[in-house]
Amino acid sequence: MIKIPSQVNRALKILNGNGYSAYVVGGAVRDAFMGRDADDWDITTSALPEEILNAFNGFRVIETGIKHGTVTVIIDDMSIEITTYRVDGGYSDNRHPDSVRFTDRIEEDLMRRDFTVNAVAVSSDGEIVDPFGGRNDIENRLISCVGEPDKRFGEDALRILRALRFSSVLDFKIDEKTVKSIHDNKKLLKNVSCERIFSELCKLLCGQAVERILTDFSDVIFEIFPELEPMENCVQNNPYHVYDVWTHAVKSVAAVAPETELRLAMLFHDSGKPHTRTTDENGIDHFYNHAEISCRIAESSLATMKASKRIRERVLIYVEYHDFWPHMISKKTFRRYIAEFGMDAVKALFEVRRADSAAHAPHVYEPALKENEIGLKIIEEIEKEDSCFKIKDLAINGKDLEKSGVEPSPLMGEVLKKLFNEVIDDRIENEKEALLKRASELVKGAENGDS
Ligand code: ATP
Ligand code: MG
Repeated sequence: MIKIPSQVNRALKILNGNGYSAYVVGGAVRDAFMGRDADDWDITTSALPEEILNAFNGFRVIETGIKHGTVTVIIDDMSIEITTYRVDGGYSDNRHPDSVRFTDRIEEDLMRRDFTVNAVAVSSDGEIVDPFGGRNDIENRLISCVGEPDKRFGEDALRILRALRFSSVLDFKIDEKTVKSIHDNKKLLKNVSCERIFSELCKLLCGQAVERILTDFSDVIFEIFPELEPMENCVQNNPYHVYDVWTHAVKSVAAVAPETELRLAMLFHDSGKPHTRTTDENGIDHFYNHAEISCRIAESSLATMKASKRIRERVLIYVEYHDFWPHMISKKTFRRYIAEFGMDAVKALFEVRRADSAAHAPHVYEPALKENEIGLKIIEEIEKEDSCFKIKDLAINGKDLEKSGVEPSPLMGEVLKKLFNEVIDDRIENEKEALLKRASELVKGAENGDS
């Protein structure tokens, strides 16, 4: 039996008390059967949307998607989605149903669901409705479509990526017929909105079986990001590598910590290599300036996906600097990086480098870890010294400059920036008197036309 949280049980009982049938269903049920803690509980019920609202009169309720039959009820701080049993009408666009029809039969509702493991319903008194063998597939760790895969992917092509996502996150195999259908129908993904694709893709990338999915379904990934396709079979004949560019990238994705920005960065970090490959007279391959090209590819791919500003900024920093040599970087340069990118991003670069090295020839990893240690020591020192990182941390500001006679102007900004650079380069103390004195020199210099 699965353990249903008390709030969810209460919601089921309220629906039952009002004469409706109701079950928990979907991801939470799947996770609970696997012995995992589930957080997002979904309820499906015979009650119509209006009837759900009436049954939960007095509770906080959000009319999330009332047209499609979904209402969110909040019980003791827990949000529970309650949806009326539903049959989806035809799909003419491979995206959403042309219409939905409510029904009072749970079996019909389960039929519209994507995979057997997501189509098991459990009532508050422990009755299990499992018409497609979902529990068996959970037991056998298998993703399998409810019904005919070709038909189901044709209705909503996002299910292709959802299959890969669940397989990656849960480390479930995908049933053979479903696998074939995924490859056969991948072109339909072009009809799905980039937001829905990107959200599934990010979850897929952070899954535990990401290496298997990116390897076995590279064709699907290239449907989303055609710019990555040249990486496949791009050989790297040099002493540092043992894999082609795509295999290396996939292994580095799997090696890096499971955070969206890091995983995306590893996916893109060497995408510029096929465009920069040269072979010298000894037959050794080089990829000069590939990081810059990779950065441009990541930039345009993430823009196409309408990725958030935070994701874009972070991924581009990681991609551009993935090849940095931490043991060769001076404290001054690290300070500059920290000022420009932020401490978190700079620390993450070490993780990027670790994962990148882990996917090289085996002899590369240990030395890279040592070099990381050297760089990280410097970072630690900077943190301890609490050195000045941002312009606003300067011991003077625009107001101080104004008091000493500098009009608010572009010049003022330039002077502050110069002072800031001199402080992080250790050329001057971050101390008010010294800075004001230097500021007046800089202003005079500017008035005399120095640059
Ligand atoms: P997660 O752990 O990510 O919440 P989930 O299985 O709960 O996984 P949701 O996207 O929250 O996934 O969807 C809830 C349920 O709704 C699914 O378990 C599935 O039964 C059904 N579902 C969601 N999206 C689709 C879809 N595109 N096609 C068919 N059924 C779907
Ligand atoms: Mg869910």
